[in-house]
Amino acid sequence: MTELVEKLKNNKVLEKEEFVYLLQNRNETIADILKNEAVAVRKEHYGNKIYVRGLIEFTNYCKNDCYYCGIRRSNANAERYRLTKEEILACCADGYETGYRTFVLQGGEDGFFTEEKISDIVYSIKEKHPDCAVTLSVGEHPKKTYKAWFDAGADRYLLRHETADACHYSKLHPEKLTLENRKACLYDLKEIGFQVGCGFMVGSPFQSFETLAKDLLFINELSPQMVGLGPFIPHHDTPFKDERGGELELCLFLLSVVRIMLPKVLLPATTALGTIHPQGRELGILSGANVCMPNLSPESVRKKYMLYDNKLSSGKESAQYLAQLSDDMEKIGYRVVVDRGDHADKTKQ
Ligand code: SAH
Repeated sequence: MTELVEKLKNNKVLEKEEFVYLLQNRNETIADILKNEAVAVRKEHYGNKIYVRGLIEFTNYCKNDCYYCGIRRSNANAERYRLTKEEILACCADGYETGYRTFVLQGGEDGFFTEEKISDIVYSIKEKHPDCAVTLSVGEHPKKTYKAWFDAGADRYLLRHETADACHYSKLHPEKLTLENRKACLYDLKEIGFQVGCGFMVGSPFQSFETLAKDLLFINELSPQMVGLGPFIPHHDTPFKDERGGELELCLFLLSVVRIMLPKVLLPATTALGTIHPQGRELGILSGANVCMPNLSPESVRKKYMLYDNKLSSGKESAQYLAQLSDDMEKIGYRVVVDRGDHADKTKQ
C-alpha cells in the first residue's frame, strides 16, 4: 500500500487496478497520508487562499430526465422558475459588492435560454464587471454554441462527466444521453479555450471501485482545470429516491487523490458536501479543496433549485454571508480572497 501511495505522489496517476486496490483497501492512516500530501501540494500553488464563486441558479426547467436529479423533466412536483436577465444582473451586482469576482450561471437544459440569450447575458455581465470571470454550467450543446458563449466572454464551463463508465452512465441516464457525447462536449469546450470542469457524484447508484477508477483515469486524461466532486444525495421525487447516499469519508479521500493527481486543480468543497455534514465544507478544504461556491440566487427561488433533498440554501451557503464563511475558513487556517481565482496556468483577463 505504501508503494502505491508513493507511486501516486510521484507519477500523479496509477493503473486502473491500482486505483481499485487503493480505494478498496483505504484506511484512516492512508487517508491521512494522502490528505497531508494534498494540503502540501495545494499550498505550493495557492498558499492558504480559498476562492469563492457566486452561484446563480437561473433556471430549473430541464429537457433531460436524469434519474438522480430533482429538477428532471418528469418531476411534476418541481415548481419551475426562470430568472430574467435583469434579475441575473442584479444578483451579480449584489455579489460584486459582497466581494465575488466569479459568477457561475447554472441551470437545467432549458430551451428558453437560447444561444443568443445566454450570449447576451454573458456579454452584459462582462460589460458591467470586466474584472470578473463568468462560468457557465448549462449542459450539453453544439460546439458552435459553446464557441459563441466563449466569444461573448465566458471564461469557464462546468460539465460533470457523471461517470466515465459507459454502462454505469446508462444506468443513471435515459438512453439518448450518452457518455460519448458528454465527453465530446468536454473536449470541445477545452479546444475552444474554456477553463473546463468535469466531475462526478460519489456514491451514485451502481457506482463501484472499478467505475471510480475509470473516473480518476478520465480526469487524468482530460486534465481539466476544475473538478466537481460531491456525494450523491437521493431526491424524494426521482427514481433513485430509495437509494443510499454517498459517504463523507470516501468524498474526502477522493478529494485528496484528485488534488495529488492535478496539483493546480480548482477543487470546490461542494454544497452537497456541506449538506451531508455540518462541517462538510471545512473538511473538504482540509482534504485538498480550495474553492467554495455559495448561493447568490434570489432568496425566493433558492428552495426551488432542489437537485437533491435538504439542499442547503441559507446561512453559510448564501453569498450574503461571505463574512461568516471567511470567519469559518480563518478558524481552520485559510483565507477567503477577493479574486477571480483562475487556474494557476491560465491568466486570461
Ligand atoms: N444541467 C447542468 C447542471 C446540472 S446540475 C449540467 O448538465 O451540467 C449540477 C450537478 O449536480 C450535476 O452535474 C450532478 O452531478 C449534481 N447532482 C444532480 N442531482 C444530484 C443529486 N441527487 N445528488 C447530488 N448531486 C446531484
